Amino acid sequence: MRRLESYVAGCWHRPAANGRALLDAATGETVAELSPVAADPAAAVAHGRDVGGPALREMTFHQRAARLRDVAKMLLAEETKERLYDLSYCTGATRSDSWIDIDGGAGVLMSYAGRARRELPNSNVVVDGATEPLSRDDSFSAVHVLTSRAGVEVQINAFNFPVWGMLEKFAPAFLAGVPSIVKPAAETAYLAEAAVRLMIESELLPEGALQLVCASPAELSTLLDSLSGADSIAFTGSASVGAALRSHRAVAEAAVRLNVEADSLNAAVLAPDAGPDSAEFGVFVAETVREMTVKAGQKCTAIRRALVPRQHLDAAAQALVAALGDVAVGDPRDPDSDMGPLVSLAQRSEVQASVAALLQGAEPLFEGSVRSGDDGVGAFLAPTLLRATDPWAETVHTVEAFGPVATLVPYAGITEATELVAAGGGSLVASLYGADRDDMAALALGIASHHGRVLMADASAAAASTGHGSPLPMLVHGGPGRSGGGQEMGGMRGVFGHMQRSAVQGSPDMLTAVTGEHIAGSRANRHKGHPFKLTFDELEVGDSITTESRTVTKADIDAFAESTGDKFYAHTDEAAAARSPIFGGIVAHGYLVLSFAAGLFVWPDEGPVLANYGIDRLRFAKPTYPGDVIHVVLTCKRKTQLDGRGYGEVAWDTRVINQNGEVNAAYDVLTMVANTPGRNGAPT
Ligand code: NAP
Repeated sequence: MRRLESYVAGCWHRPAANGRALLDAATGETVAELSPVAADPAAAVAHGRDVGGPALREMTFHQRAARLRDVAKMLLAEETKERLYDLSYCTGATRSDSWIDIDGGAGVLMSYAGRARRELPNSNVVVDGATEPLSRDDSFSAVHVLTSRAGVEVQINAFNFPVWGMLEKFAPAFLAGVPSIVKPAAETAYLAEAAVRLMIESELLPEGALQLVCASPAELSTLLDSLSGADSIAFTGSASVGAALRSHRAVAEAAVRLNVEADSLNAAVLAPDAGPDSAEFGVFVAETVREMTVKAGQKCTAIRRALVPRQHLDAAAQALVAALGDVAVGDPRDPDSDMGPLVSLAQRSEVQASVAALLQGAEPLFEGSVRSGDDGVGAFLAPTLLRATDPWAETVHTVEAFGPVATLVPYAGITEATELVAAGGGSLVASLYGADRDDMAALALGIASHHGRVLMADASAAAASTGHGSPLPMLVHGGPGRSGGGQEMGGMRGVFGHMQRSAVQGSPDMLTAVTGEHIAGSRANRHKGHPFKLTFDELEVGDSITTESRTVTKADIDAFAESTGDKFYAHTDEAAAARSPIFGGIVAHGYLVLSFAAGLFVWPDEGPVLANYGIDRLRFAKPTYPGDVIHVVLTCKRKTQLDGRGYGEVAWDTRVINQNGEVNAAYDVLTMVANTPGRNGAPT
């Protein structure tokens, strides 16, 4: 008998006592046993705070990202993955369901690793937004910074995606420097435990960054009691447990942050123009059937309400029934099965009770059959399509049947469709199917505030569409109202949600010391010669050069217009330029000013600066007129070491200044600068 263990405070704890048998969803055989946790669950909190947090906060964002990428590779390695797939079948998942959970989960880690390296600095402080000058002479300013919270996050997961559901919470917390304590749902805890075991055994994660408590809700409650204001709880599951957590002492009294991802009556809406002959009609039917049957409908994002214009109701019903008739329900290990059983007999009873409740406002349209593998012990349930007898029947918009069940709901116009969708009380996602841009835009804007995500599906996007039911790591996942009011992922938004935003006020020098970025008004070093001659390692934030001056002449402007072909009237037509309310006369091209600036600050010889890869935040603050005399102040603003590549990124604060001391143009020049030979992988 495999007795599930918890990983707390640096070791695995095997329970001594017998516990609850967790059964294979299809065969009814015992897969594992869930017993009372053999460690003090609250010890996980202390260990996370004292060991995991400090270890994580010593690492930079890029170092954490590299670990995430390595963990993803480890999970995706053929042998590792197959061990997880074998267990995943026991949950009732087919191979393609498991792909979403296992490969999808590793994909979230990969995506976060890549984005973090591109979008976050190689430090552990994020500067949020622009510097706020608080004095006329730049002697007192403020910046907003994000720093890691010195707490832990308890992640309470639902049963349906034991790997993906865990990793989509773990990745942003890990990147933010916050240790995770994972509480898997009982039904599928054996798969989550196996994935955590692989992650721990890989030794890729700093000790304390990831702990696992295979705890009952009562044991979990003790753990939650030991949380305090720096900690957070991320919950995914039913609205009722979400509500119970909102009133838990930790949340209500100790100000522990709580994110709730709860249930949701997601809608798909066929737009009025999408008749049975349209491509969008076909996409709507395929997507609704897919959402009903992937993971046997046990997906928080699955389509529960399919809204169709009254005039297309019969056609939609016919097409859906025909497509559902082709779905092979059976043994998840059989490659010919499209859909496996529900996770457990208890879950099937819950879904059957929900269907009975839905039938108060709906009638059955289709109930499929199970083709293979059902010898009476599996939790099989065939897809069930209902039709609302009254589109406004309360149960249709309030009862979630967390299985392969959807209800067709007729509507009479865009306004009614919007109101019916909103009657779900707030959902994770809705999808719209149609080609008429005005109708689709009216629907999207009408329902957006009730949703975390809206998918617009017209034929032109059909081939590339990622589909109604796929939350993506770069997009926010979570919706308002009934769906919990929470928010997860969304690229770096998900990371920043784990960090504390603080406004730090002080002199620019102090703010530079805090952020590691040159803040306007802070000290500049001008004694080291041209900063382009310095290697990445020699260069310091604040190293600066003030260039020679040059005069911009009318002949320069004419020649630039001629050579580039940019003959916009403000550069070429005296009379028209004079009439311009902005310029009042001929002005230099902005790109000419940038080019002259480069001519002033670039060091021409071969040296550490390898390439200029772009410009950020460019503003032409003042026009440059013929006769203006410009010079450039170039200052090293930010350094980002790219680990092991032999070079790093350097952003240069660049200001083009005229003879009156006014800034004509301001921007950040982005360059790659080589390390000192032999350092960080640079050739010797
Ligand atoms: P659930 O019964 O609410 O359980 C979710 C998690 O909460 C499990 O780990 C469960 O542990 C734990 N739990 C139960 N009672 C608790 C308590 N009093 N205090 C703290 N934790 C407690 O949900 P489920 O049956 O696993 O999942 C299905 C539901 O989740 C559906 O309603 C679905 O819509 C929703 N869901 C939402 C999302 C989303 O992203 N919004 C994603 C997936 C699923 P035990 O398993 O040990 O009881």
